[in-house]
Amino acid sequence: MIVGIMGGGQLAKMLALAGQPLGIQCLFLDPAPDACARSAGELLCGDYGDEGLLDQLARRASVVTYEFENVPEASLRRLASRGAVYPDPRALAIARDRWHEKRLFAELGIPTPPFVAIDTRTDLERGLAAVGLPAVLKTRTMGYDGKGQRVLRDAADADGAYAALSGSPLILEGFVAFSREVSLIAVRDRFGDARFYPLTENVHRSGVLAQSVARPGDPMTAQAEDYARRLLGHLDYVGVLAVEFFQKGHDLLANEMAPRVHNSGHWTIEGAETSQFENHLRAVAGLPLGATCPVAAAGMVNFVGRLPEPAAVLAVPGAHLHVYGKDPRPGRKVGHATVRAQGEAQLREALARLAALAAGS
Ligand code: AMP
Repeated sequence: MIVGIMGGGQLAKMLALAGQPLGIQCLFLDPAPDACARSAGELLCGDYGDEGLLDQLARRASVVTYEFENVPEASLRRLASRGAVYPDPRALAIARDRWHEKRLFAELGIPTPPFVAIDTRTDLERGLAAVGLPAVLKTRTMGYDGKGQRVLRDAADADGAYAALSGSPLILEGFVAFSREVSLIAVRDRFGDARFYPLTENVHRSGVLAQSVARPGDPMTAQAEDYARRLLGHLDYVGVLAVEFFQKGHDLLANEMAPRVHNSGHWTIEGAETSQFENHLRAVAGLPLGATCPVAAAGMVNFVGRLPEPAAVLAVPGAHLHVYGKDPRPGRKVGHATVRAQGEAQLREALARLAALAAGS
């Protein structure tokens, strides 16, 4: 079976690697001739709107999926008119726009930070009066890894933040003094079977995910699963869905969702019975899902901007190295290490050693 993937980055590459033992080949569409997934499958190199390539992808693949949110709508429509596309493009249309996303959360009774759509400077004044300070001004679309957002600590920050971001539709959110950030990786198959990985605790640096730790049995699990289940059902979702939350007291506030495999689920490659990548493929291909239970204490450290020495990473007990094959650049994710450990103490020690390697020490 061939699965088509819009995008040829590291997520597409890891999907393709997970597909190989199942006899699933992945075919990627990506404009970059050196897209890193090409080492794991065939690359159709061209624009995401190239009708000839879209038609080729739809014709050759049994089903098409995607590894990023900003696939052009016209391309999705074209693909969907020619074959199966999972998750449903409706999920993508909502997830790519922070305002639509938060409106859906609110509609489904999923708590969020306070938020207001901002189109003009006057809206921002009104928004600040409604949301209060501190607040975060974000672009509604195309923002990722903390890009396209500014924190407003006092009223004097408003002009600068607005000048930096206006030009695209914006959203103002209340700044949440969270105790921690967690995400839930959910997966649902074509027949409605939904499963959840253990809640994952995440640490971000400069808006970019630095470290994730799986927290099986976490007391916030039931709340997170309840919210994710509402989204999966409402969207008649097929595939992996990641939902990111801020925890404040005993409440979870939804920050965003990603209708795809997610960085905070990378620990599942070695740390869970079935990885998020394999389960996403199983779901979109109409195959039964695999168990989502952890096989050990597990976590992940991202390598951003540069890769540490492979030998130093692999010398850490329980560590597994994943190199994406991308040219190192400041702020760019170039690889990660997962850890599988015998208990919390060993996990903590391994993660600390890997974090020091990631930081270059
Ligand atoms: P995002 O692109 O929305 O995931 O934001 C990236 C990171 O910025 C988040 O993981 C948080 O660490 C931080 N952040 C975003 N929005 C807020 C908020 N409303 N309150 C506090 N921190 C935030």
